[in-house]
Amino acid sequence: MKIHISILLILFFLIPLTNQSQKTEKMIKSDKEWRISLDEMSYQVLRKSYTERPFTGEYNLHFQEGYYSCKGCNQKLFESNNKYESNCGWPSFDQAIPGTIDYVKDYSHNMFRIEVKCSKCDGHLGHVFKDGPKETTGKRYCINSAALTFKDK
Ligand SMILES: [Zn+2]
Repeated sequence: MKIHISILLILFFLIPLTNQSQKTEKMIKSDKEWRISLDEMSYQVLRKSYTERPFTGEYNLHFQEGYYSCKGCNQKLFESNNKYESNCGWPSFDQAIPGTIDYVKDYSHNMFRIEVKCSKCDGHLGHVFKDGPKETTGKRYCINSAALTFKDK
């Protein structure tokens, strides 16, 4: 009987480990490799957490049907049906595709914000705020266009 319990315990601890191995595999590149593979603006945003000027980004007023991927690693991040016009000057989404975003506390510029990063390549995408549409999630993912690429459905 004791043996059975030990086997159960071992399984209990092993199962979470096997699930973890199914998590998104990280894309790791050196700074030099990122510089080569990205245009200057996308490099500054994704790798140096730069924020593009409001109302200047390619996808700010872009409402075609499709999906938005990370420009660094191509992971799908947002569906066009979660994009909405927030008038803040950057592409805004009320939710991301589950499991594609890492959330990091950001105390820069004398503010407290939640930074959103791509879970695959750790690229900086933007921030998430709690002033999104109340009828859905109440969240506003405020994302730099230079961090994204768009694909038609
Ligand atoms: Zn990425």
